[in-house]
Amino acid sequence: MNWMNRFIATTLPAVPKPIVRFFSKKYIAGNTINDAVRTINDLADQGCISTVDVLGEFIKNLKEADKTVREYLKILNRIDKDGLNCNISIKLTQFGLTIDKEKCYKNVLKIAKSVHEKNNFVRIDMEDSECTTDTLDIFSRLAQKYPDNVGIVIQSYMRRSMKDITGLLATIPKLNVRICKGIYIEPRDIAFKDPAIINYNYMALLEKLFEGGAYVGIATHDEKLVFHSQELIRKLDIPKDRYEFQMLLGVDEQLRRSIIANGHRLRVYVPYGQKWYAYSLRRLKENPQIAGYVLRGMLQR
Ligand SMILES: Cc1cc2nc3c(=O)[nH]c(=O)nc-3n(C[C@H](O)[C@H](O)[C@H](O)COP(=O)(O)OP(=O)(O)OC[C@H]3O[C@@H](n4cnc5c(N)ncnc54)[C@H](O)[C@@H]3O)c2cc1C
Repeated sequence: MNWMNRFIATTLPAVPKPIVRFFSKKYIAGNTINDAVRTINDLADQGCISTVDVLGEFIKNLKEADKTVREYLKILNRIDKDGLNCNISIKLTQFGLTIDKEKCYKNVLKIAKSVHEKNNFVRIDMEDSECTTDTLDIFSRLAQKYPDNVGIVIQSYMRRSMKDITGLLATIPKLNVRICKGIYIEPRDIAFKDPAIINYNYMALLEKLFEGGAYVGIATHDEKLVFHSQELIRKLDIPKDRYEFQMLLGVDEQLRRSIIANGHRLRVYVPYGQKWYAYSLRRLKENPQIAGYVLRGMLQR
């Protein structure tokens, strides 16, 4: 990222919300379930499967968590009714993790039960490092109950990740992990900062998971990682039902098409909902064209 992009990325919170909304439109399906379903159907026409995320995180009271539970139960019903090839992704802070861990567990248990009854799947996203231990703990409890229906995320920038997956491989019967680099700003004693080390660790985690028999969601838009993952899949002769590639809605559709053309399963992360702001800031900060976009938007006001 050049200095201008870095500058814009750090000052993004000062950019007026309508501008942020305008330039983040491509990353979000819309405000409603119908918007999400339309996007999931469009993606299916392009050969992609989906995972849907109701936007929102770090809620302020448990009433908001109840609302999130209701919204996820609704979208699960709709996925079931319309026969969509789509699972769900959730953030535990949306269910009250930082307010009342036990209540959060009970909330997510309702989701996991419904997912199990519908023969679907819930992926628990990984948030910042303050949440890692509690997230892994709640995942482990749910995965013991519903081993076919619950998965977790591991971030390759976290120094603890290799130890975490070693523990998970030893204790979770049908481990299902999405690996990503990690998006939150973490201190150096907790997270690697060097992109080359983050990538090296990503591949080491992937190999460990494959060798341990886990199902892996390979979540990245980094073509180097996609290339090395495909090499590893070939080298270890990993069958197609043991992994999938995953990408975010609105990011590098050309790479998406090439992964599908190479015969791999590709799942797109489809966020929708009213609480679009925090998610949009994270996506815009990662976009290499961000400076041009935002400056153009400011000048056009
Ligand atoms: C399906 C999925 C789920 C995820 N879940 C989590 C999670 O639970 N927890 C978590 O911490 N992180 C999550 N992430 C985010 C992830 O950790 C990274 O921050 C993000 O994917 C960027 O890393 P990268 O591997 O794509 O590599 P990068 O090196 O960051 O990017 C690779 C290429 O993609 C381009 N690119 C990346 N983002 C954008 C963008 N917004 N617009 C345009 N171009 C872009 C870059 O410019 C670069 O050329 C998820 C990512 C994906 C794909």
